[in-house]
Amino acid sequence: MQKNLFAFCLLSLSFITNNIYADQITGCQRQQIVQIVQAKEKIKERIQVLLTELPQYDLNYVYENFILPKNRPWEEGSIQNYSYTQYLQSIYTTFSSIDADLDKGIHWKCEPTYQSQCQQGEVIAYVLFIGNRPLKTIHLCSGYFNTPVDRQVETGIHELSHYSAATDDLALSWLEPGKFIDLKGAANDAFHLERFSSGDIVHTLRTQVWFWNWLK
Ligand SMILES: [Zn+2]
Repeated sequence: MQKNLFAFCLLSLSFITNNIYADQITGCQRQQIVQIVQAKEKIKERIQVLLTELPQYDLNYVYENFILPKNRPWEEGSIQNYSYTQYLQSIYTTFSSIDADLDKGIHWKCEPTYQSQCQQGEVIAYVLFIGNRPLKTIHLCSGYFNTPVDRQVETGIHELSHYSAATDDLALSWLEPGKFIDLKGAANDAFHLERFSSGDIVHTLRTQVWFWNWLK
């Protein structure tokens, strides 16, 4: 009975997305499946925008659009310039891996709030690791489904960065006001990557990265 219902849901949703058949969805109710599919579609769209736009924000772009107009210090070949290039490549690679995994299909698993990892509703989604290796399942706690779709996309990108690129939860600890930032930390922080889930990409780069990397 349950199996039939699940098959029906997949069938009725198939017009929304082409690659939902590649996904494995377990333990979810019909309404939850609808939300997973909708959020995935939006995540895919956003990742496409990121992959198209990010490469243009290279050192030349930063110099012309941020350093010069703001009259900030700049030294050719500096460590800041080098680490920014590394950072940009690294986040591009992470978003590419997410993109590939979205096409390959994701395993989504719905978890009840009483599931201990959901911490009585404090956690809305998680990925488990063995050592440094992420297990290929995104667990969605009940609370996830009570958040608006934009927040689901943000959470999705956060969790996918763990899932596809083994990122950490550094909670922006690489950013200490008044100090140069650790861009390796930034590129490896799911809390930083989720900031790219909506809005103006330049704004995110400017406020989270450029401002601190080329301090006045
Ligand atoms: Zn996380």
